Amino acid sequence: MPNEKINELPKIKEFKMKTTIPVHKNEELTATITDITYQGMGVAKVDGYPLFVAGALPGEEVKLHVLKADKKYGFAKAIKYLTTSPDRVDGGKKELVQTGIAPLQHWAYPAQLRYKKKLVSDLLQKAHLSDLQVTETVGMDKPRHYRNKAQVPTRNYKGQLTTGFFRRGSHNFIPLEDYEIQDPRIDEVILTVRDILREYNVPAYNEEKHTGVIRNVMVRRGHYSGEVMVVLITRTKKLKGAAEISAKIQELCPDVISVQQNINPDKTNVILGKTTKIMRGRNYIQDQLNGLTFNISAQSFYQVNPEQTEKLYARAVELADLHGEETVIDAYCGIGTISLSLAKAAKEVYGVEIVPEAIEDAKENARINKLDNLTFEVGNAEEKMQHWANAGVDPDVIVVDPPRKGLTANFIEAAAKTAPQKVVYVSCNPATLVRDIERFGEQGYSVKRPLEPFDQFPQTTHVETIAVLERN
Ligand code: SAH
Repeated sequence: MPNEKINELPKIKEFKMKTTIPVHKNEELTATITDITYQGMGVAKVDGYPLFVAGALPGEEVKLHVLKADKKYGFAKAIKYLTTSPDRVDGGKKELVQTGIAPLQHWAYPAQLRYKKKLVSDLLQKAHLSDLQVTETVGMDKPRHYRNKAQVPTRNYKGQLTTGFFRRGSHNFIPLEDYEIQDPRIDEVILTVRDILREYNVPAYNEEKHTGVIRNVMVRRGHYSGEVMVVLITRTKKLKGAAEISAKIQELCPDVISVQQNINPDKTNVILGKTTKIMRGRNYIQDQLNGLTFNISAQSFYQVNPEQTEKLYARAVELADLHGEETVIDAYCGIGTISLSLAKAAKEVYGVEIVPEAIEDAKENARINKLDNLTFEVGNAEEKMQHWANAGVDPDVIVVDPPRKGLTANFIEAAAKTAPQKVVYVSCNPATLVRDIERFGEQGYSVKRPLEPFDQFPQTTHVETIAVLERN
């Protein structure tokens, strides 16, 4: 982000900066958009001062009206486009930008892919790692309707329970029926469930008063299996008409093979509560990835873009370069999707993951795929890694796939202590990936081949990247 630089300036310079904000509120000026933020806003620089402009794309010359000029950055509205980007496409729905569901939908897909590569390169450059190369971003043929999971809020809108999304950074509810990036069948099921909840007069959650019943509807669909899971997330334990509602959902959507209720009584932004109850059918759905079958339960993480995940995992396994002899650790293993893919080519695989339900799924997944060289353990990856390091576990390869905050310094130290030849790092946040590459550097590991970005999240600014760290 442009403002991070300003944060780094010494105090005296910061003071100077403050006194020389080059624009003021309500000023009109012309500027060229040079960048785009993680939220998909265009960035124009006026004497180095960043102005964020919703809807504007890099390369466009825009007449701006300044809405707000804070110390370190400001916001402006585009009042006239003097030039438009050749990569501008008809995005159509402003709700998809307002909600942050698809903030790049007005940018041609090849430009999105170039931008994601640049995002990774720029971060490397900032960290003085500019000698590292980055490949072209691996994209999708049809970069829409890819998500296999939806979690949508339900609120009372114009007197009835409605499904939609929140305006970005707020809790202002916007009704929505077509989510553009979700499996279209998921959008259909959401509407059917909404209509059934209306029919049975189930009250939607009211966040201000902390009243009402249905907070969210979660729907997951197996890309190959077509199996659908519906989870009604309720504030209350009691759901009046539960039996009839779940029966009706299955009657109208025969592909729904699992209906569950998750209870979340707290005042919180966290979607799922701790308790999940089966209403009808199984407590999991199955899906396939690269020929392996996976059980996926409501609480478990599962990659949202199945088509890209197959490419990502195949590449991660290829880069691990296994020959049937190796001991491999898969840290942050979820339901064991990467672990199982590795197990076919390794001697043994150890997986660690913090969510107990996911480890239950992982063990079952090893069993149903008839693989017996896997050991899964519930735990904090950092602690487990230290434990393995102390216990003398001797991995040839470590695969990591952490959440956005990346790895901890302790994890990296413990991993290095076990002295694997290679660490295959699958990252959903290039900023923490670059930080962790630097930390691995201090432990005697370096990147010798180009980083590989994968587009798991088309129409958004997120990027997934694989990096391989090799022992010097
Ligand atoms: N490799 C899996 C999961 C990746 S997502 C896949 O591709 O499907 C990251 C996973 O890390 C999630 O399952 C999350 O529950 C888990 N996780 C988060 N913090 C953790 C920690 N401190 N220790 C172990 N696992 C953690």
